[in-house]
Amino acid sequence: MKRGRLENKVAIVTGGAGGIGTAVARAFSREGAKVMLADVADQAGQEVARSCGPDTRYSHLNVADENEWLEVVAETERHFGPVGILVNNAGIVRHGPLEIHREDDFRQVIEVNQIGVFLGMKSVVASMKRAGSGSIINLSSVAGLIGAANAIGYTASKFAVRGMTKVAAIELAPANIRVNSVHPGVTRTPLTDLSPEDRPVLERMLAETPAGRWAEPEEIANIILMLASDESSFATGAEFVVDGGMTCR
Ligand code: NAD
Repeated sequence: MKRGRLENKVAIVTGGAGGIGTAVARAFSREGAKVMLADVADQAGQEVARSCGPDTRYSHLNVADENEWLEVVAETERHFGPVGILVNNAGIVRHGPLEIHREDDFRQVIEVNQIGVFLGMKSVVASMKRAGSGSIINLSSVAGLIGAANAIGYTASKFAVRGMTKVAAIELAPANIRVNSVHPGVTRTPLTDLSPEDRPVLERMLAETPAGRWAEPEEIANIILMLASDESSFATGAEFVVDGGMTCR
């Protein structure tokens, strides 16, 4: 029988209840990983986990809460063994021009997208050391490479993810832990299912995408799968752009 690309690996995928996270959980379980799917959307998360099969479990996790992180990592170790893969995928967006952008919205986005990634990386290091190796994949965005108008908090958080990835890659390389960031362009998920007044932001991004279309979540998950597997064994601290050419102009 053909071995899966993630056979014997244990993974935590945050934000796995929808969009890109669900596509990642499906790809990982197909390739033989044991997956802990973590999200705040409990019902949807449990359904996705059930549909992936017996080696996928669901756990509640608000990525902005350090105690919840410690519990999820401990639970994952109890059920599956030490963690070898972490996909920091959970994320939110709030739109609005700078002049009227609400401070609350800005802070909320930083809490989830930036603090959440920091806490996730920090919480899995000890477990990855016990596993003997690790791969952390942080979801940034094209908004971590160039400014996204009407999304200043989101852009700030995604630039931060890109920077934190490099710090962690340097610090964790001696422990055989790789850390990379992924930068999707506009992808068809609930996150981009916007209200009519916010849609022009995305239409503009689409017009600037040479590929002339949005990505499907599976196209982002395939890159994440490659980074999670040993196929990318010399890749660390790097930016993997999956944007249909949007940022190459
Ligand atoms: P999505 O909204 O479809 O899914 C995000 C998931 O994160 C949801 O299941 C949600 O419940 C969960 N979540 C939200 N807050 C959370 C929290 N505090 N703790 C735990 N889980 C939480 O989004 P998506 O489009 O699949 O995006 C996934 C990642 O990819 C995000 O980091 C996003 O910024 C990034 N991204 C998306 C696009 C895109 O066009 N869709 C483009 C670039 C980057």
